Amino acid sequence: MIYFDHNATAPVMREARETWLHATENISGNPSSPHQTGARAHIALREAREKLAHFLGCHANDIVWTSGATEANNTVMHHFSRTLDVKSEVWISAIEHPCVDESAKHYFGKRAKFIPVTHDGVIDLDWLTTELTDTRPGLVGVMTANNETGVIQPWREILSICQSYEVPFFTDAVQWLGKMPAKDLGQCDFVSGAAHKFGGPRGIGFLKIPHKSHITPLLVGGKQEQGVRAGTENVATILSMMAALEIREQQMANSQHILRGVWRENFEKQLLRELPGATIVGAKSPRLWNTVSALMPEGAQLRWLSKLDKAGFAVSTGSACTTGKEEPSHVLAAMHFKPAEAHRVLRFSSGWETNESDWDALAKALAKIHGEIYHAKT
Ligand code: PLP
Repeated sequence: MIYFDHNATAPVMREARETWLHATENISGNPSSPHQTGARAHIALREAREKLAHFLGCHANDIVWTSGATEANNTVMHHFSRTLDVKSEVWISAIEHPCVDESAKHYFGKRAKFIPVTHDGVIDLDWLTTELTDTRPGLVGVMTANNETGVIQPWREILSICQSYEVPFFTDAVQWLGKMPAKDLGQCDFVSGAAHKFGGPRGIGFLKIPHKSHITPLLVGGKQEQGVRAGTENVATILSMMAALEIREQQMANSQHILRGVWRENFEKQLLRELPGATIVGAKSPRLWNTVSALMPEGAQLRWLSKLDKAGFAVSTGSACTTGKEEPSHVLAAMHFKPAEAHRVLRFSSGWETNESDWDALAKALAKIHGEIYHAKT
């Protein structure tokens, strides 16, 4: 099977697995325990925190380990729901992952306002600056890159706009980390990430919080993580996550051709040539080097999926969380695609191990399946 669904989850890389095994066998204590075995776990955790802080460009104490990005993102919304005054709004982009979007609606109801995006899938900066001249929300949240389309958001510019209005800025960096350099993300007030998108294990992630701030915990019942997140830290999975991120950061420094997305671009050219009527979503915007979101010219979405599956390609219809849902993607709806168009979308997301011939094989498989669907119709 050639795997083109890395935005849903990526295979655990060998070094991450080995680090997990080694830590499980050798670091058996609880980091909060008052003896040498506990101290060993505490030191390992401290080193992992320093490593992540170094990549992000923040202080080690600003890192809170979580069970993943869903928990990290819910923690942000929960914290602001407890600390903002009852009239304050939170503004998030209209293309956030459901764990931001639904949690904002859950905690803020109508006080959650959505920042529109253009047809190319980038948030509307003019809207943001205009609205900010009249109103100050309690929080602005815009993801670094979208999970369905791969469209990169201008998070550095948004950060600087928010700083000039003294509004805290939160970014969900789940799809960015491990694909693009983490550097500078630490300047954002809140940043979330999850290991399983870049070759680490599932069920582990983090939240970066503002320096020396106290965050209202979502999980209570323990003083771990400086009182911000109760529960015994999973040292082995944290070390494993950091082993994966360290390798990805090294790969980025040495693989400029991958970061330029040349193979993906060639694939898109082939796709548009072989499948007349196909559309690349967000084609005019800067996008992650690994992601292609395309509207197929004809044929039901699930038919494409099952034919590709049989041909040995694992692809997706959008985000893994929306697969199988009847409603069209809220991301494509925000980009003004009609429901009928959104139902034609397929997402192809590669990983570091995907090579040029995998992209080529996928393009050929799509052309073949298109021929079959077309002939069955005529
Ligand atoms: N944010 C984004 C952009 C994602 O793509 C995902 C997962 O698909 C999440 C958050 C949630 O991550 P997790 O399921 O690891 O908690």
